[in-house]
Amino acid sequence: MGFDTDRFEDLEISEELICSICTGVLEDAMTTHCDHLFCNKCINDWLRDHHTCPIDRCPLRSCMLKRAPRAIRNLINRLKIYCPYRNDGCKQSVRLEQYDQHQLECPFNPDSMVKCKLYCQRLMKRRDLNKHDCIKELAQMIQFQRQQLFDRDRRIQTLYFVLFILIIIYLFLPFTSFCSFLFHWSNYL
Ligand SMILES: [Zn+2]
Ligand SMILES: [Zn+2]
Ligand SMILES: [Zn+2]
Ligand SMILES: [Zn+2]
Repeated sequence: MGFDTDRFEDLEISEELICSICTGVLEDAMTTHCDHLFCNKCINDWLRDHHTCPIDRCPLRSCMLKRAPRAIRNLINRLKIYCPYRNDGCKQSVRLEQYDQHQLECPFNPDSMVKCKLYCQRLMKRRDLNKHDCIKELAQMIQFQRQQLFDRDRRIQTLYFVLFILIIIYLFLPFTSFCSFLFHWSNYL
């Protein structure tokens, strides 16, 4: 599906850049051997039920489609499209080639990722920023870090205990028996 023409800054978009199936500005433009241009998705959907070009009925199959010439693609990419969050307040218009990037980063996109600047500093979707309970998040983070510290302390205690046992065995066993003990023990690790 192409892009609706009323989403562009230019009021008069050249007819060559319009897909005759969806009547929008070509998206991922493909060309046929009869020199017609369509959106990739539009023409492939059409060819599922037909085996001709929708304009001049020339025989046509999916495998015969080619990417539109670079000059056409450049013309399309340079068209300036309004931000999809225009109604939410974004006044920017960007070149079509920057559209996806802008959409991701647009400060009006409720799904773009932002960091809470209050207490928790968590990364979240903009739409969740006002709803989230910052103090609760912070408390959960502290709880999580406490648990990690607790687990670390337990690991250290276990290591000390093993070391202690080894020293005891070392002190009470002759050296050769100690080596064979270590050897056997290491087989179980
Ligand atoms: Zn189309
Ligand atoms: Zn044709
Ligand atoms: Zn925007
Ligand atoms: Zn927060």
